Amino acid sequence: MSFSLKPYNTFGLDVRARDGIVVRDFAMFPAAFDKIRKNGTGFITLGHGSDVLFKGDYDGTVIVNRLMGVEFNEDANTYYVKAQAGETFHDIVALTMKKGIYGLENLAMIPGTVGGAPVQNIGAYGVSLSDFCRYVEVLDLVTGKVDRIMGRDCGFGYRTSVFRTPENQARYIITAVELALPKDWKPETSYNALSSQNLETPEAIYDFVCSTRKIKLPDPKVLGNAGSFFRNPVVSRETLALIQKTFENVPHYPAESNPEMVKLAAGWLIDQAGCRGLNLGTAGTYRNQALVLVNYGGATPDDLVNAAKHVQTRVEDAFGVHLDPEVRIYGEKGECQL
Ligand SMILES: Cc1cc2nc3c(=O)[nH]c(=O)nc-3n(C[C@H](O)[C@H](O)[C@H](O)COP(=O)(O)OP(=O)(O)OC[C@H]3O[C@@H](n4cnc5c(N)ncnc54)[C@H](O)[C@@H]3O)c2cc1C
Repeated sequence: MSFSLKPYNTFGLDVRARDGIVVRDFAMFPAAFDKIRKNGTGFITLGHGSDVLFKGDYDGTVIVNRLMGVEFNEDANTYYVKAQAGETFHDIVALTMKKGIYGLENLAMIPGTVGGAPVQNIGAYGVSLSDFCRYVEVLDLVTGKVDRIMGRDCGFGYRTSVFRTPENQARYIITAVELALPKDWKPETSYNALSSQNLETPEAIYDFVCSTRKIKLPDPKVLGNAGSFFRNPVVSRETLALIQKTFENVPHYPAESNPEMVKLAAGWLIDQAGCRGLNLGTAGTYRNQALVLVNYGGATPDDLVNAAKHVQTRVEDAFGVHLDPEVRIYGEKGECQL
C-alpha cells in the first residue's frame, strides 16, 4: 500500500491505496494505465475526494485527476466555458463572475473538481450542473478515445448521472466539462433561503450563497467532512401520513422521480432524531448542519462508519425511514455499502 490517500479525501482519513498517480497532463495517462495493468487491480479516479468515504485501505490504483486549463468561447446568445477536469469547480464559478459571465453563482463554494461535478450532478440553491452542462469530455477506456457525452445523454438526476454506475466508473475518466451559460441572465431565487432575500444581481446571489455556506458548512481543512452525507429519502404518501401523526410540520416535497412519492429532508430527520451535533468521540455530526458527518480529529474509517450507522438507526427508530449515503463509499476492493 504505497500511495497515501490522506491528501485526497476531505474526511482527512489516514488511508492508503496499493498504488496511485497524479495525472497533470494527457501524456501521463499511459503511465497510469501501465500501473493499473501491472497491479492487475481495479482503479478509482479521484478529484479532491470531497464526496468519498474510504472504509479502509484500497487494494487498487488511484488516478488523481489534475488536468488544468479553461477556455472561453461565445456566440450571439451564449458563453461557452470549457474547463479541464482537475480545475477546482469554485474557481470556475469565481472566474466566470469576474468576467461578467453569470449563471453559476448559486453553485459557489461547492468543494471538488470540475471532473467530480457531473458524477453526482452537483447542485445547490435550486441550480444543478445539468442546467448548464453542454457536454462532458471523457477518456473512454473501451474505445481508447476521447469522446464527448452531450448533457442530455448524461442521465442527470437528483445527485446522480450515468457516471455513477460501476460499469461507467471503470470505463470513463472525465477529462473536461463544457458549460453553456446564456447571455440573457435570469436569477434563480426560487429556493426558500434565497426567495426571502432581495437578491437582484448575480453578485448579490453569489455573496449570499458564499456567506450562508460559510456559516452552515464546516471547512474540510478545519473539520474533515464530505458535505451532506445522506441523500434526502423518497418515501410513500402512507409513510408521510404516519410521520405527520406525530410531526405535523415535517418538511416534504414532491419527488422529481415519481409524483406518487415524496422527498423528505434528511437533515431535518436527523435533527429531530436528536443527532445534530452528535459527538461519539472522534466522529459525529456538525452542530450547524445535522446532515454533515464530521471527523472531529483522529477519526478512523470505523469511527465514521459507526457514527453514520448510529445516525441511520436513530432516524429509523424515530421515523421508520432508512437513510442512504450520498457520499460514495469505498472499501478494499472498490465501491461498497456502508
Ligand atoms: C463542505 C462540503 C460541501 C458540499 N456541498 C455540496 C453541495 O452543496 N452540493 C453538492 O452537490 N455536493 C456538495 N458536496 C460534495 C462534493 O463537493 C461534490 O460531490 C463534488 O463534485 C465532488 O468532487 P471531487 O472532485 O471532490 O470528487 P471526488 O470526491 O474525488 O469523487 C467523487 C466521485 O466522482 C468520481 N470522480 C471524480 N473525478 C472523476 C473524473 N475525473 N472522472 C471520473 N470519475 C470521477 C470518483 O471516482 C467518485 O466516485 C460538498 C462537499 C463538502 C466537503
